[in-house]
Amino acid sequence: MKKLLSVCLAAAVFLPITLRAGDSLDKVMPVRGFCIAAPRPAELDRFAAFIDTELAPRGVNTLILRVDYNYEFQSRPELRDHGALSRDDVKKLVAICRKNNIHLIPQINLLGHQSFGKNLGSLLAHYPEFDETPWVKMPEKYKWPNADRLYCKSYCPLHPKVHEVVFAVMDELCEVFEADAFHAGMDEVFYIGETNCPRCGGTDRAELFAGEVTTLRDHLREKGRRLWIWSDRLLDAKATGLGEWEASANGTARAIDLIPKDVMLCAWHYECDFPSAPYFAMKGFHIVTCPWKSSQLAVLQADDMAHWRKVSPEVLKDRFDGVMQTVWSGAGSFMDKDYKSKEDATNSWNCFTAMFSELKKLVPEKAK
Ligand SMILES: [Zn+2]
Repeated sequence: MKKLLSVCLAAAVFLPITLRAGDSLDKVMPVRGFCIAAPRPAELDRFAAFIDTELAPRGVNTLILRVDYNYEFQSRPELRDHGALSRDDVKKLVAICRKNNIHLIPQINLLGHQSFGKNLGSLLAHYPEFDETPWVKMPEKYKWPNADRLYCKSYCPLHPKVHEVVFAVMDELCEVFEADAFHAGMDEVFYIGETNCPRCGGTDRAELFAGEVTTLRDHLREKGRRLWIWSDRLLDAKATGLGEWEASANGTARAIDLIPKDVMLCAWHYECDFPSAPYFAMKGFHIVTCPWKSSQLAVLQADDMAHWRKVSPEVLKDRFDGVMQTVWSGAGSFMDKDYKSKEDATNSWNCFTAMFSELKKLVPEKAK
């Protein structure tokens, strides 16, 4: 048995990525994603053209738009951003994606990321009773580190009214986007199960996190929709050596064994080629890995995914779904900056084009 294992490991390490002529891009890398903040109405036409002329021709087939409250919600109009996308605006995005066979997935940050810097997010601004840490006051000037360890606020997942509001905006967004999947964010949750919270203080944080994932997933499943989340809370910061942003330092990592296996995990790694994909695959999950600004890392991530799809045992192969470029600026500022200043070697546009060029190289000439 040991001998067999060592042969398998040797094969996994040394086998080159040799693909057969029939291996199309869809087979080599089924998910080829791009994730960015949804455009503002004034940026809509330019962004639609960008989808048409830059994303689609490169083979992007999955677009995650971080909408949050940039939509004219009817169900909860109080949560709307000022100058948000209208229903007609969203329908333009739906049409351009459909024309290009792009799977369009909207996102609202749930659980964590309910504030940023000194600004409270819309949910807690209108429903302060959902705040997991109401005793932590928003600073006039934000700096990290700070005495409260305030990175971003969270909502309390055990507040009895929170899901009534959250489900309403999730459902409305999925309906207008005609989406069969929804991304709930759920990354970088620093505040969870706080001792002073009257509802979840003293509760196991992995169970709390898993409970919220499962609640959101079950709700989406009722209408045949799939939950996508970032995967950083499911990695242990101490065991992996990753920081408390890229992995969890507050006890949520064991949730990996508690959440439903059909949750799609998006593993972002921006500083090293971290092997979270095989770990999650062996736990039974489907995964996409995500670069940001490093072209070198993006190419490695693409090669890794193709490699694991190629050499893994049959039961694991299909769990390595693909890769997704992440852009952490607004659509407008991305198009004004990274997209225009192409000479900068470490920007998200160059990272994206490097990764997608690599994907094309992975497909044999006859299959293109
Ligand atoms: Zn709580």
